[in-house]
Amino acid sequence: MRMKRTKRPDPAGKPVDSCSPPAYLRTFVFEYSEEIKTKIVDLSVAAMVEIGESASKRVRERDFLIWTGEFTNQLDMRLYIVGVPYGLHSPVLDILYRKYSSEPSFVEINYSPPGEFKAQPILRYQYGRHVLYASPFIPAPQARLQAGLSSDFEARSFQQAPMIGKGPYSAPERPLHRSPLHHDEAVWLENRERLMEFMRSLKGPCGLRRLRSIVEECFGVSVFEEGSREFAHYGLIRLGSGATPKVRILVNKRLPEKLKYIVLAHELGHYLLHFPLLLILRYVEETAWSIPEIEPYCRQLLTDDPLVLQSVEDRADEIASFFLVPAWVHPVQRMTAVISEGGVSPPPSELIWRFLQPLFPEDRFAHTTWNDLAEIRKRARRDVNRLRSTTGDQTANLFERMLVAALRVDEAGAEGVTKERPEEEPLEPVLGAMHAVAIKVESLSAPEVRRDLRTLLKGTYPGPQPLSEGEFLPGLGTFGRELVSPLGGDGGGLLQRIPLEPTIYNPQGRADGDWRLRTSPGSPVGTLAEWRKWKPDHGVVLYRFESWQKKALEKL
Ligand SMILES: [Zn+2]
Repeated sequence: MRMKRTKRPDPAGKPVDSCSPPAYLRTFVFEYSEEIKTKIVDLSVAAMVEIGESASKRVRERDFLIWTGEFTNQLDMRLYIVGVPYGLHSPVLDILYRKYSSEPSFVEINYSPPGEFKAQPILRYQYGRHVLYASPFIPAPQARLQAGLSSDFEARSFQQAPMIGKGPYSAPERPLHRSPLHHDEAVWLENRERLMEFMRSLKGPCGLRRLRSIVEECFGVSVFEEGSREFAHYGLIRLGSGATPKVRILVNKRLPEKLKYIVLAHELGHYLLHFPLLLILRYVEETAWSIPEIEPYCRQLLTDDPLVLQSVEDRADEIASFFLVPAWVHPVQRMTAVISEGGVSPPPSELIWRFLQPLFPEDRFAHTTWNDLAEIRKRARRDVNRLRSTTGDQTANLFERMLVAALRVDEAGAEGVTKERPEEEPLEPVLGAMHAVAIKVESLSAPEVRRDLRTLLKGTYPGPQPLSEGEFLPGLGTFGRELVSPLGGDGGGLLQRIPLEPTIYNPQGRADGDWRLRTSPGSPVGTLAEWRKWKPDHGVVLYRFESWQKKALEKL
């Protein structure tokens, strides 16, 4: 047991001890009653005094915790359990046994994992010192008073630390490559190659901080943590403006660190695979100012076949999976063949499942003890069977998405995934159609392109929406703009759009002054320029008044 003192005291000012729970405790089992709790404290204190007064140094010089908890057995008997370290020096154990077994409600001595009876430490014997563990919110004198203990006892609180073995992350070899900050196609192609090399060189997952610094320093992509409330994505990748845009990845600040790492890897996957698409989306966003139809048209191209956006996300997940289950692990079969656990090789899918466990927060298998093996097997088999035939969008969470992606990679062969396909095949028609539109934008007038796009929208363009009265009230409704949902369509999103409206409408329906942003109540309202400064990563789509709307306003 490695006991640590945390740096900060608890809310009541007491020191905080922290350690990871032992795998097993020696347990003393009692029939449950309310009185037994105080009796156990008294008996334990008596034992601690005796241990401290022992003539033998090997008995006195000890540091151990006394845990308590409850358990209801199969006969529906409610039991009170006292746990001490499993391998406690036997003269010390004898002293404790004599005290505890003198209690009439004592049943037996046994052993158990602490989780089995929700063990919490109540006392600590620390080389003759006596420590009482109490709620972090109770001041020390009050804690001692409640437990009926004298001031010889130091009151502390206890925090269970995660099992700290070796962390799941390891340092990668840093690439020597240095990308410019402005990305054009040539820069991207070079980055792609270097990124692939880096991915293939990973010995294991490298963790958020390292990945972030490599992404920024070597690949010229800046990474930000976005903490605003309206940021409803895991992550986002965006290009700046201009012919050679800067690339920014946003990661949701409120996610746990382990998930941020995965999200960063996923967005990096979008950069690696979908830079041409990102360029087009940025073009659409900018062009929509004068040709609003380009936006629904592009959305239609991307969503007409649901497989298109799905494959975009699936492929980004596959790239992300290499940052969790590194390329050298595939094919997993090769590895499982030489593993024998009780004479059995685990199936490859189970091994991948186990690989992923420590990389996700708050899972009970994140810090595996081998006692869990049977349970792990059961859960792995269940998850794998359920997910085997699904794609990313049918999975419930990031863990399942990564599991599915890693299984896909393993089946396809890692080489295939990282080598071929410079362009996504399902995306090719989309990219082609958008290039055709871009040529039209270059060569035709805006009204001509708009007319053209409306026919291309195959009647799906909703056109001017009918007005309701409420929409004329300032600050309400959607008059004068069109609300555009994020293009991503996957909840993970590729872009975020915030509609704007003119600050003041004049009777001709023209906007006077600047444009005004309206988001959720309470969020800042400002000019377009202020907005851009405040949220450089949020796209804005602005829809000017259509002539029919101007006419409607004139009638007021
Ligand atoms: Zn994505």
